Amino acid sequence: MPQRQSRNADIARRDLGVVWHPCTQMKDHERLPLIPVSRGEGPWLHDFDGHRYLDAISSWWVNLFGHANPRISAAVAAQLGRLEHVILAGFTHEPVLELSERLTRLLPPGLTRCFYADNGSSAVEVAVKMSFHYWLNSGRPKKRRFITLSNSYHGETLGALAVGDVALFKDVYRPLLMDVITVPSPDCHLREPGESWETHSRRMFAHMEEALGRHADEVAAVIIEPLVQCAGGMRMYHPAWLSMLREACDRHGVHLIADEIAVGFGRTGTMFACEQAAIRPDFMCLSKGLTGGYLPLSVVVTTEQVYGAFYDDYTKLSAFLHSHSYTGNPLACAAALATLDIFQADGVIGRNRGLAQRMARAASRFADHPHVAEVRQTGMIVAIELVRDRRTGERFDWRERRGLRLYEHALSRGVLLRPLGPVVYWMPPYVIGDEEIALLESVTAEGVDLACA
Ligand SMILES: *Cc1c(COP(=O)(O)O)cnc(C)c1O
Repeated sequence: MPQRQSRNADIARRDLGVVWHPCTQMKDHERLPLIPVSRGEGPWLHDFDGHRYLDAISSWWVNLFGHANPRISAAVAAQLGRLEHVILAGFTHEPVLELSERLTRLLPPGLTRCFYADNGSSAVEVAVKMSFHYWLNSGRPKKRRFITLSNSYHGETLGALAVGDVALFKDVYRPLLMDVITVPSPDCHLREPGESWETHSRRMFAHMEEALGRHADEVAAVIIEPLVQCAGGMRMYHPAWLSMLREACDRHGVHLIADEIAVGFGRTGTMFACEQAAIRPDFMCLSKGLTGGYLPLSVVVTTEQVYGAFYDDYTKLSAFLHSHSYTGNPLACAAALATLDIFQADGVIGRNRGLAQRMARAASRFADHPHVAEVRQTGMIVAIELVRDRRTGERFDWRERRGLRLYEHALSRGVLLRPLGPVVYWMPPYVIGDEEIALLESVTAEGVDLACA
């Protein structure tokens, strides 16, 4: 007689027969159950067996206003009835036009040209190629290298991987990657005892100044994640460092690429992280929250000066001949427009200030934990850094996979937390409520105790 299985187990079994999951050692699933999701609602994900999970990481940092958000869903459905997709070369459509007009109004003044792609890594590839190509078109072919920060992350395609620095993702592929100049990050977790974030970040800028001084002639751009290095463990720094970078890039004649793929759209407390330093990068990369977590879309927004360096007679062969099949997809643009509507109609940036304070209060209990080296926060991102020994700062051996214990415990209690190595973080959708924050707090507390035991 066939054994009666749960719907979850049945789907998981079939899935593991055909699907290769991202960022996963698939052998782990011999023991670790895969979680099939039947539907989402607000910050909650529901499986097929009647369990639900609080999505405390916004499904890899993309979701802003909850799953199956009625307003975004309606906008996508309406667009679906008109036009699902059209080639964006030689053709255009209202959603991409309106989105471009609205983004350029929201972004720091001077960012006026929108070039679309369909995921974050591709946006980074676009910015990197465009910067190099700008200098080439401007008669400076030697400017073809990139300066990047230690512990940075810009995606997984080869160009994006090359300008990132997370060893776990990068080391294996080094033989395939272009050479970059890596400068120590202003990461404030590494500040001296008693040193302020600002003092540390300013002091660390000396490394960037030195690299620019030495290499400016051969460097096209500096690429950075403004304020928070997310995949690198939610490492944070002071906006003063960004102001110094803008000034130095201008002085040395080097582009500044701001990768706001993770931090854009309110994550750091302002609509865009660059606002906190009042700077305008030469290229801003956006994705993830751009569509409220609905559909893949990315955009690189740049200046008229960059645009102008490509604008000439066809036979000069100076055009930017880069494309992706789903560039500027109308459904994704419709989701993005609905997302911007919500920001505006609900005063989200202001409302999030209160939410960030409630998250700070919930996280404060971890500050004195014997295995917590630091609790840090920038806007809607809270991170808790776990260590074996708080006094010496000694880390746990990564082979012990303590984060995985925390992940499993949290799931058993109905919360999706996915630590980055020894860093537990909260990066919830902006619709999380007080009861849900309380749940997050208590489940994290149990998980931290369990993982560090
Ligand atoms: C996620 C991320 C990327 C890559 O985006 P994908 O859509 O996953 O390719 C690039 N930069 C940063 C800062 C990111 O967090």
